[in-house]
Amino acid sequence: MSIKTRFAPSPTGYLHVGGARTALFSWLYARKHGGKFVLRIEDTDLERSTKESVNAILEGMTWLGLEYDEGPFYQTERFERYQQVIQQLLDQGDAYYCCCSKETLEQLRNEQKARKEKPRYDGRCREAKHHNTKEAVIRFRNPDEGGVVIQDLVKGDIVIANKELDDLIIARADGSPTYNLTVVVDDMDMDITHVIRGDDHINNTPRQINILKALGAELPKYAHVPMILGDDGARLSKRHGAVSVMQYRDDGFLPEALLNYLVRLGWSHGDQEVFSVDEMIEFFDLDNVNVSASTFNSEKLLWLNHHYMMHSDAAHVARHLSWHMGNLGVDPATDGPDLVKVVEIQRERCKTLVEMAQASAFFYKDFEHYDEKAAKKNFKQGSALVLKNLYDKFSEVEQWQGEQLHQIVLDLAEAMDLKLGKVAQPLRVAISGTSVSPPIDVTLSLLGREKTLARIAKAINFIEKL
Ligand code: GLU
Repeated sequence: MSIKTRFAPSPTGYLHVGGARTALFSWLYARKHGGKFVLRIEDTDLERSTKESVNAILEGMTWLGLEYDEGPFYQTERFERYQQVIQQLLDQGDAYYCCCSKETLEQLRNEQKARKEKPRYDGRCREAKHHNTKEAVIRFRNPDEGGVVIQDLVKGDIVIANKELDDLIIARADGSPTYNLTVVVDDMDMDITHVIRGDDHINNTPRQINILKALGAELPKYAHVPMILGDDGARLSKRHGAVSVMQYRDDGFLPEALLNYLVRLGWSHGDQEVFSVDEMIEFFDLDNVNVSASTFNSEKLLWLNHHYMMHSDAAHVARHLSWHMGNLGVDPATDGPDLVKVVEIQRERCKTLVEMAQASAFFYKDFEHYDEKAAKKNFKQGSALVLKNLYDKFSEVEQWQGEQLHQIVLDLAEAMDLKLGKVAQPLRVAISGTSVSPPIDVTLSLLGREKTLARIAKAINFIEKL
């Protein structure tokens, strides 16, 4: 059997961490088994679905590299098909028109509550043989006897008696199909073999199974993935910080760091923490998905990001860094060192690409201000002379190369009887605007003679005006 999974987001917001994890698990399962992965946009809620959300979801999937083999399918383009299936259910006697008014349903609910029963529709229109009217909804006739067994691949067998389930509305009075109907039709038509989704849908599953059975469809296997909690134990939401996948891009995370973080959020493979995408595909298995909720841990994500910045190919990191440089108004392709070299010297000290971009912009673009604290501490009257001497030596040096430049700094400190820091720090502030930068020799050699001299001159001027 060829495996087919799907990710079926409702486009009512951005792609959030929970959705991305569901997508990742479905994608991994398909990839692992040489199957197919389908993207389906569940946009039937016309009031809440937006084009922006669709775009945000597609953008998020692309950024994470979760490419789909089929789709995106849009449910709003499949209304005709849903009507056809609804009609089939009506014709088979597995669905019926219900004309119960709001008041009738309200009264029913109150009576049931008074008898301490679980509120549920009692099927009173089942035999009424109503026809279609403006007010009529269509309900699925749920079986009365027996029950449904969900052989959940994460949670194990779950048994629900049919008498617990009532007759679900599958079409509203305006004829539009409801969520449980559209999902069933799509899972059936798209030959989905494995439905991997959040466990907030677990109550829908027995209802969906009953509709699938009425349609004579083959049942997919289900895997309900536990939810993600914030560090306070409440369901992960905006107030825990960034939950949109694209926000992580904007905050300077590499997609592979987020993927690695997400795969470990509710799944484990021994005590391994770092997984390349190939390893994820090789080892992923629904058997090892946790049964209980997992907690989001921003520190760990940051750690993984640093790990990937350190160990990924520098050219790859540079491609992502370049986008962040652009956000700072810097074009690393023109006038400045090779960005790959910048990555190599910066990655040790930066946890995010945003930090790295901020710490590296000075290689390409003149900064407007000195860091106030750094200038105060390192630009003393005496530093003007230090910088002047450096200017002269740097102007004369034949080879603009780390070792030679370093030697000049050392020699000058000795000649002026100063501690190395009294020479290197004013120089660092002069060329980078701050007191933290990679080692001074590599910084100088990447920055180049012209920029170095111009910035030293500017700093001398600044100090003399103090
Ligand atoms: N559209 C549903 C949601 O975004 C998912 C439905 C499903 O996976 O079956 O929650």
